[in-house]
Amino acid sequence: MTVAFSVCVYCGSRCGTDPAFGSAAAEVGTWIGQHNGQLVYGGGGAGLMRVVADATLAAGGRVVGVIPQSLVDREWAHHGCSELHIVQTMHDRKRMMAERADAFLALPGGLGTLEELFEVWTWRQLGYHDKPIGLLNVAGYYDRLREFLNVSVEQQLVGDWQMRLIRADNDPAALLQSLVDAAAISPAARLDEI
Ligand code: AMP
Repeated sequence: MTVAFSVCVYCGSRCGTDPAFGSAAAEVGTWIGQHNGQLVYGGGGAGLMRVVADATLAAGGRVVGVIPQSLVDREWAHHGCSELHIVQTMHDRKRMMAERADAFLALPGGLGTLEELFEVWTWRQLGYHDKPIGLLNVAGYYDRLREFLNVSVEQQLVGDWQMRLIRADNDPAALLQSLVDAAAISPAARLDEI
């Protein structure tokens, strides 16, 4: 089966309290599946991670899960993935997820999600890859983070151009379409330098 594109989604291993998070995760997975896409994610079988994976599969998409051996039990590795890669370390996981993706999308999540978002964002600012990055700001979850980052810009510790490296939106379909469109014109990634 050929897939039209691969999107790496970072999101919570929990569902959080706002039902809008789960709805958005389901919408993301459904959009990927309906557009003949492939989800690349952390391979977990819980929380928003599971929701996005199940929605992708239900809509006919492929799901690539990548999980370190040490988290197989803790995050309930999702054995329904089209491909489940059990790797040795967190570094192996992040590298494989990044290599397999044409674009990155962060949904609401906790520390792991934030770390993944900032890592891929900082890789982009350093030129290690040239893949588009999206932030799905569901129900204003990331409003305070964006306000804080604006302070960093005001204090001239972050440049405007760095802020423009991610696309933030609250509409899953519009954001996914914009990432897929941008990925189609991006030069090949240079992840081998990482
Ligand atoms: P969380 O957002 O904390 O619920 O975690 C979401 C996903 O991020 C889970 O699959 C975690 O295993 C993963 N994660 C946690 N810490 C890290 C990290 N340092 N680097 C990459 N992923 C992580």
